[in-house]
Amino acid sequence: MRIGIDLGGTKIEAVVLAPDGAIAFRQRRPTPRNDYDATVQVIAALVAEAEHAIGHACTVGIGMPGTISPATGVVKNANSTWLNGRRLHQDVEARLDRPVRLANDANCFALSEASDGAGAGESVVFGVIIGTGCGGGVVVNGAVLTGPNAIAGEWGHNPLPWPDDSERPGPECYCGKRGCLESFISGPGFARDYAIHAGVAIGSIDAAGVVARASDGNAQAAGALDRYVSRVARGLATIVNVLDPDVIVLGGGMSNVPHLYDAVPARLPPFVFSDAVVTRIVPPKHGDSSGVRGAAWLWSLEEARKVTGAARAPQAGAGTAGA
Ligand SMILES: [Zn+2]
Repeated sequence: MRIGIDLGGTKIEAVVLAPDGAIAFRQRRPTPRNDYDATVQVIAALVAEAEHAIGHACTVGIGMPGTISPATGVVKNANSTWLNGRRLHQDVEARLDRPVRLANDANCFALSEASDGAGAGESVVFGVIIGTGCGGGVVVNGAVLTGPNAIAGEWGHNPLPWPDDSERPGPECYCGKRGCLESFISGPGFARDYAIHAGVAIGSIDAAGVVARASDGNAQAAGALDRYVSRVARGLATIVNVLDPDVIVLGGGMSNVPHLYDAVPARLPPFVFSDAVVTRIVPPKHGDSSGVRGAAWLWSLEEARKVTGAARAPQAGAGTAGA
């Protein structure tokens, strides 16, 4: 069996994924924020607990914010900033005394949905997470596309394409640039756009609140949602023009807005260099579980069978197993 771990900013979740795709074990712990050593310790403890619960060794895959830099071997681009600059891959492998695979959380989301989710059976899947940020991952024929810089699929810090005058130069982004797609189409970006146009304080309403107002017929909120749909469509049109995925799976908080699945495809054609646009845009099959499931999928079933076949005992000293 395969262990997947989702290393999030507020919680660390572990699952054991059975060969039939069922979740055989699930456990969550709060993330020790700003404490790197304790973060590694919680990962190790969760692995020990999972293996104790199911009675044999498993492969371990971890979905993480940011990625491991191929240039330096340390974490980069993580919004859980205490991970940045640390040798997370080496440290977890040393702690668990075995090879471990790590991947960006959006890549894990895309892998989960491509493997046995909403993109199953398709050749090219683009997975998008639009929540507090805006990430993306590409899976081709069942394998995550990483790239020499380990940033394949990272579209959130490209500029919003085809901007009108009101969208230039765009909001300042934490990456140092202005007008990044993420600053428009993340949940906070959407709520901010509404607040500015409606003349209310930024931060006084969140994305779900704006969506609820739009559903109630509020014209300002409906206007914000219309701008949002246009921006998501323009952003995805550039993906279609470059990658032409068979399916785009949306994840993250904004993927819970049903309106997007009708409205965004309808706005693609003017921006896609094609006579017809048949790209499907679909909700995730596994919802919030896709990240942790995709982490487990970083190892194939065949690889997991070999590990289980070796009947290796769970590692001593890996934490508070089964306590
Ligand atoms: Zn940016």
